[in-house]
Amino acid sequence: MSAAAPSPWRAHAALRAPPAPRRALWAAPLLLSLLFVLGVIVWAQRNERDEREEARKTMISDALSLEAQLRARLDEEAARLAALAVQLRSVRPDAAALDAQPEVVAGLRRVWLSVTWLDAANRIVAHVPQQLPAARRVPGPDDEPGLSLHLSAPIAPSPAGAPAGMLVARYAPAVLLRRGVPWWLARKYDVQLVDGLDQVIASTADTPPRAGGDSYRVSFGAPLSDAYLQLTQREASQPGLRTLPLVLIGGFLALIGVATALLRRQVQQVGQAEAAARSEAAWRGAMEDSALVGLRARDAEGRLLYVNRTFCDMVGYRADELIGRTPPMPYWPPDAIDEAAWRMRRNLAGQAPREGYEARWRHRDGHMLDVMVFESPLVDAGGTQVGWMGSIVDITERKQLAERERRQTETMAHHARLTMLGEVASTLAHELNQPLMAIASYTTGITNSLQRRGEPDPVVLGALERLGQQAAHAGRIVQRIREFLTRRAPQHEACDLNRVIQEAVALLQRELQRHGVQLAFALDPALPQIVADPVLIEQVVINLVRNAADALAAHAGERRIEVQSAQVAAPDRAARFVRIDVIDSGPGIGGLRIEALCAPFYSTKREGMGMGLAICRSIIEAHSGAFDVDAAPGGGARFSFSLPVSRPDDASSIPEEDQ
Ligand code: ADP
Repeated sequence: MSAAAPSPWRAHAALRAPPAPRRALWAAPLLLSLLFVLGVIVWAQRNERDEREEARKTMISDALSLEAQLRARLDEEAARLAALAVQLRSVRPDAAALDAQPEVVAGLRRVWLSVTWLDAANRIVAHVPQQLPAARRVPGPDDEPGLSLHLSAPIAPSPAGAPAGMLVARYAPAVLLRRGVPWWLARKYDVQLVDGLDQVIASTADTPPRAGGDSYRVSFGAPLSDAYLQLTQREASQPGLRTLPLVLIGGFLALIGVATALLRRQVQQVGQAEAAARSEAAWRGAMEDSALVGLRARDAEGRLLYVNRTFCDMVGYRADELIGRTPPMPYWPPDAIDEAAWRMRRNLAGQAPREGYEARWRHRDGHMLDVMVFESPLVDAGGTQVGWMGSIVDITERKQLAERERRQTETMAHHARLTMLGEVASTLAHELNQPLMAIASYTTGITNSLQRRGEPDPVVLGALERLGQQAAHAGRIVQRIREFLTRRAPQHEACDLNRVIQEAVALLQRELQRHGVQLAFALDPALPQIVADPVLIEQVVINLVRNAADALAAHAGERRIEVQSAQVAAPDRAARFVRIDVIDSGPGIGGLRIEALCAPFYSTKREGMGMGLAICRSIIEAHSGAFDVDAAPGGGARFSFSLPVSRPDDASSIPEEDQ
């Protein structure tokens, strides 16, 4: 409901099909994982290569240092043998003497297998150890398997007479290796002593070294010049440990594969759901836009969240001009903003009438429209009410039609009343005609009778003559009115309106005098003749002058009536009219319009019938004229009518009987 809340009504606009690369996003984790695994493999290989490099360097240095150590031991053994040879110059040359030498015992305990004393002719002088029974033998270096090598030292002739000779010590290189190779080197490498023909002279391992294992060979210096010391790398780690990373990587890839398959299925399902939502939104949009009902969604503050196309067409504003707008709305009529704001507050408070309410809005181009609005709560996906949804129906035409029907009904009622009145008047006229004819006949009879009997009183004769004339005149009036009311065509004839006016006013002379009304004329002497029914026009003039006199009767100020006639032209000068004005100095018509005054039965007089002006208007309009009223300059009323002047060449407008 807050201002920042995104509009759910524009969501469908954002539901466009995702671009192709986005649809393949599910493969990204797989690709990244493969890249990661590749990186790990490359890193592991480089690491292994570096390690091997390092190990090889270490092996070389270990081999060199071991060769130096072993050679130093051999040199030491040679030196001890040489020292023994010097000592033997002073002893008797036999086995017991040799055996008694502590150096010999120590040498045999170290690496020597045997010591042999040779004379100058290479005959054995003495040899230790002598062959002993197996039970008496102390285990010694002799028990070591493998080849044996020897060291020799010359025995110089002694001054005491001992002959020159040679001392030869046999030793086991395997023992030399086992004793000379430190334990940690023996665990790391298989150390072998090989000759130039690749035959193993001695080895620290019981089994031959691993085939293909990394090895290094260093040539042994004197006294083993044709031998080599060979170091072969033992297996650094267990085979199981080496394959473990591969198994882990394989498992990881398998898991990623499964996860990717699941992700792909999920993405496909989301894609299908999105496509369904998109087509639903498109359908909904099309339906909303094609609906004849305007739709408008508002939040709780009255801010417009959504409008459909019909609504936009109704008020003449584009959707982007309306969405997000807060009250006052641009389509509220400026003179009814307060009312519209009150209505909006009522609606937002949830008190909008369930059956809808009528409102008047203003289109952008200024024309007004009547609408019927139905409000209903706007609920979001979570079931919370976020505002109000309004359905709006344009009822302008319906209202105009209803108004037209109402007027027609009124007019029909009016006509019905006029018809009824016409019937009554027609009957009355018919009934009055007989007595009036009788009056005229009796008047003629009395006049004739008086003339036959001698000299009649001229005053009585004159009175009788006027009585006859008035009765005949009354008969004619009644006849014409009857004809008019029975819808027979008016008796058109060329007539001089100035004369018609004067004859009408003459009939009212007494009445005007009685009310003390001053009568004035301003008649155009050059007034053209018109084609009309003079009796009906006379009735109009009589009615207007009598109404003016009635208005003046109760008036305190000046009592004056002026009747004017003049010739006027239409604004386009295409037609000419004769205009008659009846102006009085009475109280005026109080701002009423001609329609109100001419309404049937409208009267302010106690005994008035309220039909006079209605009949006058009908008569004038039946003559194609116009009837109007306005305020006179002095404050009274000015009733006026104008009748068209027939052109001399317009023969059709002259009735046949008058031609
Ligand atoms: P009636 O004369 O029977 O009342 P009319 O149709 O002739 O019926 O007149 C209708 C009403 O118009 C009168 O009752 C009167 O109130 C008003 N009226 C007509 N003429 C004048 C006038 N000259 N000055 C003021 N009011 C007038």
